[in-house]
Amino acid sequence: MKNARLATVLILVLTILPGCKKPAEGNMVDLVLINGKVWTGDAARPWAESVAVRGGTIFAVGTAAELAGLAASAKKTVDLGGALVLPGFIDSHVHFLAGGFALKSIQLRDAGSREEFAARIAAKARELGPGRWIVNGDWDHQQFSPVETPRRDWIDAVTPDNPVCVNRFDGHMIVANSLALKLAGVTRDTPVPPGGEIEKDPATGEPTGILKDAAMDLVYAKIPDPTFEEKFEAAEASVRHAAENGVTSVHEMADASSFEVFQELARRGRLTTRVYLYVPITEVEAVEALKVKSPFGSPVLKLAGLKGFVDGSLGSATAYFFEPYTDDPTTAGILNGQMFPAGIMEQRILEADRAGLQLAIHAIGDRANSLLLDIFEKAVQENGPRDRRWRVEHAQHLRPADIARFGRLGLVAAVQPYHAIDDGRWAETKIGPERAETTYAFGSLRRAGAILAFGSDWTVAPLSPILGIYAAVTRRTLDGQNPGGWVPAEKVSVEESVRAYTVNGAWVEFAEASKGSIAAGKLADLVVLDRDIFTIPTEEIGNAKVRMTVFDGGVIFLRMTASDGRVLYGKDR
Ligand SMILES: [Zn+2]
Repeated sequence: MKNARLATVLILVLTILPGCKKPAEGNMVDLVLINGKVWTGDAARPWAESVAVRGGTIFAVGTAAELAGLAASAKKTVDLGGALVLPGFIDSHVHFLAGGFALKSIQLRDAGSREEFAARIAAKARELGPGRWIVNGDWDHQQFSPVETPRRDWIDAVTPDNPVCVNRFDGHMIVANSLALKLAGVTRDTPVPPGGEIEKDPATGEPTGILKDAAMDLVYAKIPDPTFEEKFEAAEASVRHAAENGVTSVHEMADASSFEVFQELARRGRLTTRVYLYVPITEVEAVEALKVKSPFGSPVLKLAGLKGFVDGSLGSATAYFFEPYTDDPTTAGILNGQMFPAGIMEQRILEADRAGLQLAIHAIGDRANSLLLDIFEKAVQENGPRDRRWRVEHAQHLRPADIARFGRLGLVAAVQPYHAIDDGRWAETKIGPERAETTYAFGSLRRAGAILAFGSDWTVAPLSPILGIYAAVTRRTLDGQNPGGWVPAEKVSVEESVRAYTVNGAWVEFAEASKGSIAAGKLADLVVLDRDIFTIPTEEIGNAKVRMTVFDGGVIFLRMTASDGRVLYGKDR
């Protein structure tokens, strides 16, 4: 009875709110948001109170008085009650399709012990039945007490009939059970692929089940490909998750095969996240043969360019440094398989650049970044000046001299602030205090003249831009150990953080004329938050919630509180 009443309330509110775009008649606008606090990102008018939308674009922005006439004749008017309005968030680094699969598969991220890890995998095996693969997981061994990397013998007993290949949340390390290793033919004698590692038990010499980077492909190659329908469902889950988080555009670090899925979603009118998609740099010749130039596509789906890897990750000790790891002097990290044979990365970057394709290259360790900057400098020298908007993904650990090079080359530092408050808990034990000083150096990069583009790296971190902004502004690590901020000199302001999630993201995709800010003529992608993150104490920013997400002029997510205090969700298309 009560549920029925709430449902009626929900339907009623949704009917009041603007529906799908209808053709506008005369000067009538479809939707006017009034009584808001609008951060526009537009230098000509940084703040406003009202926004009018007509079709899929912004028709007018101004004070309440300036838009009163439009509001009076609009098809729909929404009183925001002073809530904060921002341009729809642009997440500049996600694994979007993979995220959808993660939403639908086993969750190991918060498993806190060996027993719980095994128990969840056992439960999944029972759920799936014999023969099916157990994949994804996003485990984090830093959550285990004691901290230890998982092994196949933890799970072999509960998965005799299910191959298991579950990854660490950073995607640079997996643990496979004995059945999966057997299917992949991995034994103590398997040659280690360049850019990879097969961990062996020091006592027996047998594989422990842990495979890193290029070695992961030995097992990945045996996992059956998902069907198109499974991919489609995963993509739909991602799009919903984006709407809930106020994200209206993503830069997808994917493989070329996800194009068809997003294309089909777009064709059915269900792609309510604009997808700017990078394909692996290993595909350079195939993409080059098409003679397309970056960016290419429609307002909802574009080929962005090429994504490459120089090294691995800090958590997996595969990020490539000049000096060895502080907690393991036997290694300074490893280069990614894409760096082999030697010189191939440089060759591909030069070739892609000549073909007019944008580049997004992953570099985490200081030596990986330095190597990449050398290649970029050489490419500019050889191919001449051009508006490239090249990006370095993560740009995580930098020598001070290389921070300056980011500025000189006008590079985009495509960084993920949440990693700083997550890894900040243990990064110093891995690299020591000195290298930590120029780690996640967002403030220094900005001051050096690099363009900051913020993202989440979802599923490595939560998709929420609110958490990303909170992380960049406070640098308060998740363990509460750094209330004043970890390496506080590298904090950035709320406004710079919002800009890095909106205006800068649009610039990175050569789309500054059509999105990223709230101004007449731009795409009507907007997000409404439940509190003003510019004025509340910074430590409370992370508690802010998305109240409404507008995409292409239509409301795709709405959060309301029912009379009994319950939170209701909905969307009108
Ligand atoms: Zn990533």
